[in-house]
Amino acid sequence: MDAIIIGAGMSGILAAIKLDEMGLADWVMVDKATDIGGTWHENVYPGCGCDVPSHLYSYSFAPNPNWTRGYPLQAEIKAYFKGVAEKYDLPGRTRLNTEATGASWDAKSATWTVTLHNKKKLTAPILIMGCGQLNKPMIPDIAGRAKFKGAQFHSATWDHSVDLKGKRVGVIGSGASAVQFVPPVVEVAGHMTLFQRTPNWFIERADELIPEKTQKLFARFDWIRKLARLKIFMGLNALSEAFEKPGGTVAKALEEQCTEYMHSIITDPELRRKLTPDYAVGCKRILFADDFFPALTKPNAFVEDRPIKGIEAKGVRLEDGTLVPLDVIVWGTGFDTHHFIAPMEVTGADGVKLADAWKEGAEAYRGVSVSGFPNMFILYGPNTNTGNISIIYMVEQQAKYIMQGVRRIAGAPGTVLDVRADAQAAHNVDIQARLAKTAWAAGCNSWYRTASGKIPNNYPGRALQFAREMRHFEDEAYDRRVISK
Ligand code: NAP
Repeated sequence: MDAIIIGAGMSGILAAIKLDEMGLADWVMVDKATDIGGTWHENVYPGCGCDVPSHLYSYSFAPNPNWTRGYPLQAEIKAYFKGVAEKYDLPGRTRLNTEATGASWDAKSATWTVTLHNKKKLTAPILIMGCGQLNKPMIPDIAGRAKFKGAQFHSATWDHSVDLKGKRVGVIGSGASAVQFVPPVVEVAGHMTLFQRTPNWFIERADELIPEKTQKLFARFDWIRKLARLKIFMGLNALSEAFEKPGGTVAKALEEQCTEYMHSIITDPELRRKLTPDYAVGCKRILFADDFFPALTKPNAFVEDRPIKGIEAKGVRLEDGTLVPLDVIVWGTGFDTHHFIAPMEVTGADGVKLADAWKEGAEAYRGVSVSGFPNMFILYGPNTNTGNISIIYMVEQQAKYIMQGVRRIAGAPGTVLDVRADAQAAHNVDIQARLAKTAWAAGCNSWYRTASGKIPNNYPGRALQFAREMRHFEDEAYDRRVISK
């Protein structure tokens, strides 16, 4: 076998296509889920969609002129990824319902062995991780959670058997997922209380249907679609300056724009107070929405910003002693974003565990290679996330880099390609120094930043800079040798 790919979402699909293009078609892709699509298969909460415009939220080489709306909804995105996978003949070589529980490097044979949930093993010289950064739902350890008598579930494992009609629904968390499902919940619930710990900065999304005649135009004249994609890219790219210079001119203008937008819909001074952030724009992910603020003005919607003390049988107890009675609790509390690849146990050269190598926080060389874990490549790994550009763009740049490494390994059987520890360390000192100056370090809690202040998720520069950095494989940063088998 040429390679093993773990995860059949956006990253895994891309890796499989690129391996095929190189003539390395003897790969296998495994995914624990029941279908291809990764996060877009798993997240099916009401209102689920993408806040990156559709024409940028697609692979550069697999355009979809027929996106039906400016911001795609979950079903259309999942159909897109499945369609691409089918076009490239991937499903037959993808093992679904197959969880990889461990992976270990064997120095003697220069191969990776991946152990599956059923104890079966796969072996190949190349291992590609496409597990994503947002796939382990996180429910905080709030006292008394198990005592709640009503239904409760996380946004990423939405329980559609629970009818919310007329119910008193409590939503805990107010991030990117919650702002998408709060409007449809308010639509049906008797009452919705949003327990908000920290308010967010919002940009109006202005989503709309893409008329059929525009779709036809995009299908007929691909250059027009490409121009539309470029325009979206440039618009989102302009936000980068707000991340790079917190408190700078662009950041201030953006804060004003966000405040104006919020004030244009929210007129109640108390609600305005609750929804006004007190930290630099961009520190947490800026949210794009157009139905969230209107939903909060409905008579059955309420924003609770008093801290939660605990959960009780009948609802949520606030620290000031108030009980908010509830029938259903929805946890919109995000994901464990710092333990990349876990819970899979990955053992590299000399028996080193990835979890131990990363005990001070995940890091990699250029986001894709980890020293001591030869011939392993990560897509959407440490410090490759962005707060504005489509993550598909970023992952495509990583794939370009990774495939050059793959070529070096596949070119000579027995090749061991391992990034040098000093190169990885120097790269990460630079990354963290650059990150320390960004809005992401400007004093807020977010899924980008660990408790110790390290930022293992984001890339501290512009998307085009990232593309430049990922264009050429950095041979001098790697040890390369060929073992005789
Ligand atoms: P999130 O942005 O991490 O939000 C989690 C929310 O839960 C925050 O409001 C957080 O409050 C709250 N929370 C966490 N622990 C809490 C506690 N102990 N008590 C009270 N509140 C608590 O998670 P998410 O909304 O699932 O989104 C995660 C990421 O997924 C997004 O940033 C985005 O990258 C991606 N996503 C993307 C889209 C898209 O359209 N492209 C859609 C959904 C999600 P604090 O803010 O105070 O920590």
